[in-house]
Formats: sequence, structure tokens, C-alpha cells
Amino acid sequence: MLEKARIIGPSIDERESSILAPYAMLSRDSQGRRHAEPPHPYRGPFQRDRDRIVHSSAFRRLSGKMQVFTGEMGDYHRTRLTHSMEVASIARTIGRALRLNEDLIEALALLHDIGHPPYGHTGEQVLHECLVDHGGFSHNRFALTLVEDLEQRYPQFPGLNLSLELLEGQSTRVEKGGAGPAPLLEVQVVEAADSMTYNAHDLDDALKLSMVPFDELSQVPMVDGLIALLRPVATGSDAGMMRKTLVHSLIEYQVGDLVSCSSARLNAAGCGSAAEARQKGVLIGLGPALLQEKVGLESFLRERVYRHDRLRAIRKRVRNQMLWMFDCFGSHPEWLPPQFQQRARERGLRPVVGEYLAGMTDRFFQQQYRRHRLIRRQA
Ligand code: MG
Repeated sequence: MLEKARIIGPSIDERESSILAPYAMLSRDSQGRRHAEPPHPYRGPFQRDRDRIVHSSAFRRLSGKMQVFTGEMGDYHRTRLTHSMEVASIARTIGRALRLNEDLIEALALLHDIGHPPYGHTGEQVLHECLVDHGGFSHNRFALTLVEDLEQRYPQFPGLNLSLELLEGQSTRVEKGGAGPAPLLEVQVVEAADSMTYNAHDLDDALKLSMVPFDELSQVPMVDGLIALLRPVATGSDAGMMRKTLVHSLIEYQVGDLVSCSSARLNAAGCGSAAEARQKGVLIGLGPALLQEKVGLESFLRERVYRHDRLRAIRKRVRNQMLWMFDCFGSHPEWLPPQFQQRARERGLRPVVGEYLAGMTDRFFQQQYRRHRLIRRQA
């Protein structure tokens, strides 16, 4: 079927050569995949990576994993899936403005949180404590385990056999600031887009959930400055419209600053290739003034949102449930699904209990928790 496909217009390589900047990561310069595969007739390697990620089970499960606010708190706020999609959207905008490889950026963005366990950082913290004698647990590293091993979708190889640029990009999230050259510019874009995305949407969600009164935002210089600019435009708007206007302005403000500051740095560096850009260090980022303002927004979110009593109560409950579940499967490996029992015989029980729990959605975790509480009570 593939041989019959006809390509209309320029090839991927021709398109990239005509559109992308010299410092972008070109598909034709990819180091390839661990298991060699013939090129696709009309999709570039990073388009294939994106498609493999989107079609994976782990990606679909992100719809049932919380970002900051849990499913019991309503339906408006972001899940880990919609967060990943917002990051991809913002990162692609930045990538296009800087003439970087959008296919690679999109794939990296959709991959970046795929390894999150249920209940976000609380789930991660508990798994880390339970596995401290086994190297701990990190959602960034677990993303690699998923796409290199646990996802079974192809008869020829384990995992998704993603391009090495994807794996390397995700690895830099595991060991941030490690020695050696800086990550590819496309990886730097996703890193920058991630934090500006969650800062904006966490604020939106917290306002919508009435966890923070709108008036308190005057304490945050970045937000206060934007509100002053928006007031004349939004005169007569209700609180909901003001919130939405503020949130997209917050994104636009940060993206605009990032694109202009990064463009200036890229122009000054004069890089002739992606490899040369990596040697010059981190070039993608906000300017110093906005970076400072961002610190203020993040500390406000930390104090007033992430440490909110409603979230602390949920975290406390989930922490106890997760510890109980780890102990439950650690004492009863026969309750693991057969493929995980097999894996536990090969790799040791505790790390595999961690993998099994980490793959769960919040909902499935709760179902399993209730089920096993009942079974143990009846035993
Ligand atoms: Mg993220």
C-alpha cells in the first residue's frame, strides 16, 4: 500500500531546507532509530514519532491523569493530556517564529509528560520514596521506559522505536543541566513552553475554581501590569471574560518576549547548524526583566495555589492510598497483571510494582484501591 503513495509537492527534506533556519534540527540529519527502519514515503521521521506517541496507550491515559486539580474538583480544569496539547501548541508557535523544526517540537511536547504517574507530583514523590533503594522514581525517566520498552505496538521491536533526538531530548529532562553541549534548540523551546503554559493555565484553573480571588492578583507584578493594560479593552466584561482575557494575554506576553529575546541571541550567535547551536549553550529563553517577573508569578502560584488547603487535603489522602497500594502489590505479586508478574521475575518486584502503579490513571488507581481494600478486608 505504501509503495502506491504519491507525494505531491516538495519532499520533507525540500520543505525543511527552504523553510527552516540553519540552526534547526533537520530530519535528514537525524541519527535515526535504535532499530533501523526504512524511511516513510511521505512522513518525515519526527512526524512519525509524533504519530507513534499520539497512538500510544500511555498518551491516551494522560486524559485520566491530573495536572494540578483532580477530577473530583470539576471538568473545567486541565488534565495532563490537555496540558501536553497546550504545550505543543505554544511550543509550535515559538518554533515556527524561530524557524525551528515544528515536527520535532510537537513530538517532544506530546512526549514530555507521558511518564507521569497518577496524581501528579504526589504520586511521583511516593513512588520515589518507595523505590529509593532502587534508584528512585522520576516521571521523566519513566517516559523513556514507556516508549522504549513497555509500549508494545510493533512486532519487530519493543517500545515505539522513536528517533534518537526524541530520546535524547527527553533524557535531558532527567538530568537537567548535565555536562556536555546544551540540548537541541527544539528541546529548549519545549522546556520554555512547558513552564509558561502551566503558569498561565494553573492561574486560570485556580481562579475558575475560586481558590484565589481575582483581586489578589495585584500582588503579582507581571499579572498586575497586564490587568492594567487590559482594563480599558475589557470594560464591561464579566469576571469570566476578564479571566480568560488575562490568561491568553499572559501567554502572548511571555511568548512575544521569548521569541524576540531568543531571536536576538540566535542572530548574535550566528550558528550555521544545529550542532553549532548546541555548543553555544542555552539560547532559548525569556529576557532578564520578564524572567524576574516570572519568579514572582511562580512564587504566588506556589504559595496560594499549590499549597492551598483543598490540594493539601487531597495530597494527604492520595499519599496514604499510594503507600498502601505499593505495599499491597509488594506483598501480593500474584495480584499484578500477568505481564507485570513476568517482568517482576526478570527485573525485581519493587521496581515493577512502581511501573504498574505509575501507568495507572487517577480513576483506575481509585478503582483498584477500593477493590484491593475490599479483598484484603475479606481475606
Ligand atoms: Mg509539563
